Amino acid sequence: MISLNSKALLDTPISDFVIPAEKVAHVQIGNSAEHALLVLTKTGYSSIPVLDTKYRLHGLLGMKMITEAILGLERIEYDKLHNIKVDDVMESDIVHLKINDTFQRALDLVINHAFLCVVDEEGTFAGILTRRVILKQLKKYIYQVD
Ligand code: AMP
Repeated sequence: MISLNSKALLDTPISDFVIPAEKVAHVQIGNSAEHALLVLTKTGYSSIPVLDTKYRLHGLLGMKMITEAILGLERIEYDKLHNIKVDDVMESDIVHLKINDTFQRALDLVINHAFLCVVDEEGTFAGILTRRVILKQLKKYIYQVD
């Protein structure tokens, strides 16, 4: 049984909470794994979106995917980094949100994902929604504070 107040929150469109694309660190299709490793290390993010030049979402890339690709039998083969493209190692089968989705769908999905990519009506990358932002909104709702 969902209370009337909770229903209002659950029905809220996620567009209110999205971190916009221009503030999201990303890599581009065709970039080398070396470049991606630099971006991931410098930003400190565990995983970032992979976009094309038209800002369409192609997948996600995390540190673990890069490390696994250069893991030799006895050592990490850093010299391989330059020749590996992000498209070779990214995860392309990803769950994402649409800009008109509700808070409820986001809440269900962030249980298993630290953040979710959001695309607009044309399929263009609009930004991300993080578990942190969803939890903040829930906290605000539970305590009724800002
Ligand atoms: P946070 O909620 O800040 O702990 O972020 C959780 C995860 O979301 C990070 O580890 C990143 O993978 C991703 N993330 C958050 N903010 C950004 C951003 N501005 N650019 C790229 N990825 C982000």
